[in-house]
Amino acid sequence: DVQPTANIGVVGLAVMGSNLARNLASREGNTVAVYNRSRSKTDELVAEHPEAGFVATFSYEEFAAALQTPRTALIMVKAGAPTDAVIESLMEVFEPGDIIIDGGNSLFTDTIRREKAVRERGFNFVGMGVSGGEEGALHGPSLMPGGPDEAWTTLGPILRSIAAVAPDGEPCVTHVGHDGAGHFVKMVHNGIEYADMQLIAEAYDLIRRGTGKTPAEIADIFAEWNTGELESYLIEITAEVLRQVDAATGKPLVDVILDSAGAKGTGAWTVQTALDLGVPVSGIAEATFARSLSSHREQRAVSGGLPGPAEDAFTVEDPDAFVEQVRLALYASKIVAYSQGFDEIRAGAAQYGWTIDLGAISKIWRAGCIIRAQFLNRIADAYAAEPDLQVLLTAPYFVDALGRAQEAWRHIVGTAATAGIPAPAFSSSLAYYDGLRAKRLPAALIQGQRDFFGAHTYKRIDKEGTFHTLWSGDR
Ligand code: NAP
Repeated sequence: DVQPTANIGVVGLAVMGSNLARNLASREGNTVAVYNRSRSKTDELVAEHPEAGFVATFSYEEFAAALQTPRTALIMVKAGAPTDAVIESLMEVFEPGDIIIDGGNSLFTDTIRREKAVRERGFNFVGMGVSGGEEGALHGPSLMPGGPDEAWTTLGPILRSIAAVAPDGEPCVTHVGHDGAGHFVKMVHNGIEYADMQLIAEAYDLIRRGTGKTPAEIADIFAEWNTGELESYLIEITAEVLRQVDAATGKPLVDVILDSAGAKGTGAWTVQTALDLGVPVSGIAEATFARSLSSHREQRAVSGGLPGPAEDAFTVEDPDAFVEQVRLALYASKIVAYSQGFDEIRAGAAQYGWTIDLGAISKIWRAGCIIRAQFLNRIADAYAAEPDLQVLLTAPYFVDALGRAQEAWRHIVGTAATAGIPAPAFSSSLAYYDGLRAKRLPAALIQGQRDFFGAHTYKRIDKEGTFHTLWSGDR
């Protein structure tokens, strides 16, 4: 008979689940029950990691029996229908008051639906964003739990014990907000990640095509950037990717990788949600669309002959100065991408009734996750100084940084356009920035057009009320 010896259990033992289970087991005082639909993964994990002291179980009944009450189970299976199936199976063997955590990449609206359904049956449900990939799961991820306050009281200590630790010693976990708040924030984290990666890729492309430097030389530039204000995991790994040589051909590996970017959908979710909320996350959107464009190889194949500057016609006169301008353009565009992402979180919180501490979110992204960066401390400072900050990039530190960068940024966007080099994230970020700055936008003309063809009415700058003009074109 299985005895209730485990204080936490993990369902789903693919790479993320088994690494989180090992992470949990390595902490003082934890005994971890494990279960996977196909038995082989459970057998393998338990055989390879005797040091973890796992309680292996082979049915949901055994899994439930192995857990002390109130039970706590972390689900790490494929998002979507598999997650629903596992939740249903757990509710059949669990008792009211038990806690079910979904740590998969679930869409936040699914989490809101599940939380309600599970709560109505007397269980606690926590949708939790997990970032950091397999390494993070094993050594310390950034964790973004939603769900009810009662569940956080129980889970807080255990999640704090397995989370990544920020440079100031704080664990990278906070109770983000109720029901789907954690998965919402994880979604936006991934959207920002898309933007950050695209911006880095554009910087690399401009330097390579403008200066003719080799990938290895550009790796040195990124390594150097990683010692300054751009210091981050993504800049660090970019240097390593660019330095890698393909064993088969002796060429830089980046030159033999097919230039067609994949995506698993969280970038698209971020953009779709932003469209619904009316939040202009243009940098994230351009980054997502840039991946789509890259993957349409058939369209690119028939478009190579379109008129434009010759590929090799572009060279810069002062490579060092150009590299520094690209760095500044990258930094400015990055500030815009994060500002847009935090704007989406703010809007999501207002729409769904969550209380989200934006400063706390920037802090839990400082370690463990893919967008970890020194820069996040500046965001935390900005929200500490002004918790209700409307637009992140108007915080004094960022205003100063943008003041230093904007001339170079404009020059780089102009140069890219003239040279025929696509820089969609650089240029859309700049357009967003100038759109925010503008005293007056041509939206007035759009309102006129809308009133002309659809009698949609407009407001005036000089009086209250709603107006419609009898346009001469009215029939
Ligand atoms: P995965 O490939 O997404 O999922 C495989 C796991 O799901 C296996 O344990 C599989 O069991 C189980 N599963 C699939 N359908 C099932 C069903 N109908 N009933 C029960 N179990 C089912 O695994 P992963 O990469 O480890 O990711 C797990 C979750 O974490 C996903 O939601 C993923 O999006 C999220 N996540 C992944 C990363 C990452 O870097 N990979 C990072 C953060 C979050 P069998 O062995 O029986 O097939």
